[in-house]
Amino acid sequence: AKMVYYFGKTKTDGDGSMKQLLGGKGANLAEMTSIGLPVPPGFTITTECCDKYYQEKQKMPTGLMKDVEAAVKTLEKETGKKFGDTENPLLVSVRSGAAMSMPGMMNTILNLGLNDKSVVGLANATGNERFAYDAYRRLINMYGDVVMEVHHEHFEEAFSKIKQKYGVKLDNEVPTKGLVELVEAYKKVYKKHTKQDFPQDPMGQLELAIEAVFKSWNVDKAISYRRIEGITGLKGTGVNVQSMVFGNMGDDSGTGVAFTRNPSTGENKFYGEFLVNAQGEDVVAGIRTPQPVAEMPKWKCDADKTIGKKVHAELMKIKTKLEKHYKDVQDIEFTIEKGKLYMLQTRTGKRTGAAAVRIACEMVKEKLITEKTGVLRIPPNDLTQLLLPSFDPAAKKKEKPLTIGLPASPGAAFGKLAFTADEAVERAHNGEKVILVRKETSPEDVDGMHSAAGILTSTGGMTSHAAVVARGWGKCCVAGAGEIEIDEKGRKIKVGGKTFTHKDVISIDGSTGEVYGGELGTVEPKMGGDFETVMKWSDKYRKLGIRTNADSPEDSKRARKFGAEGIGLCRTEHMFFEPERIIHMREMILAEEKPAREAALKKLLPYQRKDFEGIFKAMDGLPVTVRLLDPPLHEFLPHDAKSQKEVSDATGISTKQIKSRVSQLHEHNPMLGHRGCRLSVTYPEILVMQVTAITEAAINCLKKKIDAKAEIMIPLVGTVQELAMLRKIAEETIEEVKAAKKYTGKLPILIGTMIEIPRAALTADEVATEADFFSFGTNDLTQMTFGYSRDDINSFLPDYLNEEVLEKDPFQSLDTSGVGQLVAMGVEKGRQTNAKLKLGICGEHGGDPASIAFCHKVGLNYVSCSPFRVPIARLAAAQAAL
Ligand code: ADP
Ligand code: MG
Ligand code: MG
Repeated sequence: AKMVYYFGKTKTDGDGSMKQLLGGKGANLAEMTSIGLPVPPGFTITTECCDKYYQEKQKMPTGLMKDVEAAVKTLEKETGKKFGDTENPLLVSVRSGAAMSMPGMMNTILNLGLNDKSVVGLANATGNERFAYDAYRRLINMYGDVVMEVHHEHFEEAFSKIKQKYGVKLDNEVPTKGLVELVEAYKKVYKKHTKQDFPQDPMGQLELAIEAVFKSWNVDKAISYRRIEGITGLKGTGVNVQSMVFGNMGDDSGTGVAFTRNPSTGENKFYGEFLVNAQGEDVVAGIRTPQPVAEMPKWKCDADKTIGKKVHAELMKIKTKLEKHYKDVQDIEFTIEKGKLYMLQTRTGKRTGAAAVRIACEMVKEKLITEKTGVLRIPPNDLTQLLLPSFDPAAKKKEKPLTIGLPASPGAAFGKLAFTADEAVERAHNGEKVILVRKETSPEDVDGMHSAAGILTSTGGMTSHAAVVARGWGKCCVAGAGEIEIDEKGRKIKVGGKTFTHKDVISIDGSTGEVYGGELGTVEPKMGGDFETVMKWSDKYRKLGIRTNADSPEDSKRARKFGAEGIGLCRTEHMFFEPERIIHMREMILAEEKPAREAALKKLLPYQRKDFEGIFKAMDGLPVTVRLLDPPLHEFLPHDAKSQKEVSDATGISTKQIKSRVSQLHEHNPMLGHRGCRLSVTYPEILVMQVTAITEAAINCLKKKIDAKAEIMIPLVGTVQELAMLRKIAEETIEEVKAAKKYTGKLPILIGTMIEIPRAALTADEVATEADFFSFGTNDLTQMTFGYSRDDINSFLPDYLNEEVLEKDPFQSLDTSGVGQLVAMGVEKGRQTNAKLKLGICGEHGGDPASIAFCHKVGLNYVSCSPFRVPIARLAAAQAAL
């Protein structure tokens, strides 16, 4: 196979589509050359050569250097200079570049081809001895550092001595004579640490430099970067050998980097920085402070008063040309040599969510891209940044995080530490901003969680209780920050060697998982016309319906504003935790006989009915899926002596009896225990109460011309018999309510089930005969299919991800090959016996773009996700359909 691809006036072998073979940098250098942009000529060695180098136990591929020599010959002809020449030498840079941009790989070597003789040639040819020796000393330094692994500080030391000798502080104040001496000093450093003379043969220099680039593909930091970013399947790095241009030839030269549009706001304004009289990395390295490109027109030099204006105008032309050609924002590197502009790199510009939205909309308006492309351009998850306040990036830059947990629920929150839910409620009530810190939260904590500005836990994964509840509310949460030691009694935490008490403020970033000491400033989200435009486009192209998981009228309203087309999951258990209700709930659970239980349920009924009326009203005309009681009953009971005493006082039940009931209800494995539909099989009266509340609420609404569309969902069904039994009771209850209320109008109530136990998916054809709808509860389905406890997974998940035993957290992104099979099977078998079956998903995966694409593929009718993810789901569903 061809090993070397040339780019220049003579010929250009490659093009922008060849990123896999030439690396991103090489492919784009070829592409820019062929569309007529001023690119210094050169050639690219393919990534296949790098692959071969490793296959042949780190031996340079046979014939490679012969092809390189031929390419250098072409380069010499084109530039009219000769490699290693004593008159006007050709110098080159050697640059790495894989198909994906990878920081941590090899540093670029500039000025290669200089030696003791050609440096004189360069001085003569340019009439600039200082520049020539400066270039030479940079080469010895970079070559020593990158190719021979001589530590940079040894060169620094030698430089300091010279600066001292001439009594100057800055590099560029050293006189020419000093630089000549510096070259000699550097050569000594080189020899001392490599036991060799600095190589004088340019072709020999080049060969070793190429090999150093190959080697850099497998240095530790490059390997870990690929692992962390999940980059697999690449052959290796390309090597770009390119003739040098010089930004350090004087006041008429310079170098810079830029974006064709503002990458943080998206504004269509060229955005960048440059430095006069500087080379290569000087801009990024921060040796001198660069100037904004906007000020370039003011740049003047003795030879040319309008140099800045001219170069700037040319850059603007190039911006237009690049965007017209690539049809996207470009991130570029350029150099100006004696007033002439050269392009050294271009790639797609990374951008924030806000910028992505604005750029897509404006490029569609400019007719640069089509509406469909605009939809596909925006990473759905990045929309989150537009919906929530976030920490001011400038403030974050100044601080170092104490630790990093899981980004469980996005947003930015700060406050003083609160250690229990009660404390959080009380202090928030008194006007304090608090962050609730718990090992893990439980349903008992919801009040405190609601009151807190943010939630921080030290155990638990992305679908732990804290994470799910917080996401549902759009409340900021960092979960599983395992480095934090929580001392609940002492009311303090220890992290990173520091201690924080209930009086101290911390800041948590739910979008990144970062935890900071002190208060960081926040910035408000910007949502505007462009956001609405993107949503309108999304709705036009998507096939999936988008519902939301909500259990209060406020959440329902918010989700509706975000575009939700119904509620896919209304959890009823949260409704029982409010102080005046929990007591009746507890009474009900503590009751040992049915009559006492029914009496307690009767007291809960009006509360439930009111909740449902509120939600039906908020969702007027849209379907509302209500899930019947799901968690094990012991979650509602008081577990410590103090609260048991309180319950005893309020109910008149003795503490002894309470204690015994608590221990009676204790389960070894509650998540696989007495919960879900199993509760209703044992205690049908619970189901009867809930269905009564739903039906009465629906009738009351319909009478007021509110179009209530209730759907009753029976959780945790594993056999059709469970569903058949409970469906019958539910239907009878509905009829009884109708009769009692003398209601004869239409009452469209569907009854369906959650598919969250593998057996239900396996027997979906049977289950479907008793169901009007299925909703895949993929949180539990994942838990039960893998056998991973979703509340304990964080103790081993990090190892699984590190060791690549798992590619990703299956609770975050649906495991399409395993759990997905059950979903696909459930869909197919369910429709076999019930063609009218409605199908949706209500697990956390309903808000994850990759999982949404899967849901589209297997033919679900809708996905349901937390209110703040509704816009993300709308966009992701459109992308899946395009
Ligand atoms: P990175 O991938 O780290 O950006 P590059 O290969 O792009 O590394 O090189 C870094 C910088 O070196 C470039 O931005 C440019 O300023 C300078 N450079 C590289 N090749 C040349 C060249 N042929 N002429 C002038 N400067 C160059
Ligand atoms: Mg670069
Ligand atoms: Mg469940």
